[in-house]
Amino acid sequence: MNSRIAGVIGWPAAHSLSPKLHGYWLRTLGVGGEYVAWPVRPEALESFITTMAGKGFAGCNVTIPHKEAVFNLLRKIGEVDDTAIHAGAVNTIIVKTGGILHGTNTDVYGFTENVRPHLTGKNKAVIFGAGGAARAIGRALIDLAFNTIIIANRTLARADAIGQQFGRRLEIASWQERAALLENSDLLVNATSLGMAGKPPLEIDLSSLPGHALVTDVVYTPLETPLLAEARARGNPAVDGLGMLLHQAAPGFAAWFGVKPEVTDALRRYMLA
Ligand code: NAP
Repeated sequence: MNSRIAGVIGWPAAHSLSPKLHGYWLRTLGVGGEYVAWPVRPEALESFITTMAGKGFAGCNVTIPHKEAVFNLLRKIGEVDDTAIHAGAVNTIIVKTGGILHGTNTDVYGFTENVRPHLTGKNKAVIFGAGGAARAIGRALIDLAFNTIIIANRTLARADAIGQQFGRRLEIASWQERAALLENSDLLVNATSLGMAGKPPLEIDLSSLPGHALVTDVVYTPLETPLLAEARARGNPAVDGLGMLLHQAAPGFAAWFGVKPEVTDALRRYMLA
């Protein structure tokens, strides 16, 4: 098969870290292929997607603002898997034999691979946030078989929508009670954009958080968010959000280029340089 060109579609697309990441894997694994940034305006999205198989592209990543639109489009003209349905969004398209466009969402995989080696217990998890990232993390924590999963969000209705989608496997809590939820928990996940450069920090009193509990953040700019810094300062194990980003890219690369890449310390250093 010659279709070894993949890329990322977004508007804009220049900010995306994906070309640097996939370029590293292509080079270090000696894979003959190309990964490019495709800036695609919203009004040009449908025509780009419907012609990509004919152009011989192996597939693409999908970033802001196209993830939901691609999901809705592929439901009509291609196929979407369960992870995309749970997320309500597609972040990876794979062109299958016969030009079938397969949409998936690799954030569940990315989150799971990032935290699994560091988990210190699987009884109770608390998620802050109820956007796309939180939805994927909710799915991941159900698959990891946590006994209790609680989601707290500023806009309660959004948390409630996720709770309903997952058949009440997730419990819902208000934003105001977030500190009290930490009692007896094994995992705290910030899945809001709070703590990101240019945004306010996540304000949270960690005094109820058990010392063994793992704290992780989806935000990766900065790498050490105020939440992670505070957690580490009080002795809690902590995992940053860059690993999720790196791991979520691996399934796409494997599908497009036929080689399973690895997330290594050398890759992390390269991405941070
Ligand atoms: P989203 O759908 O826009 O959701 C944003 C979330 O942040 C919502 O729950 C929102 O609450 C909450 N939020 C924003 N400002 C807030 C404030 N001032 N106070 C309280 N809550 C606030 O975004 P997303 O796609 O889920 O992404 C969330 C973050 O995850 C982003 O920073 C994104 O870059 C990051 N992310 C990282 C990875 C990775 O691989 N590491 C993957 C995906 C996303 P409301 O519902 O009340 O607005």
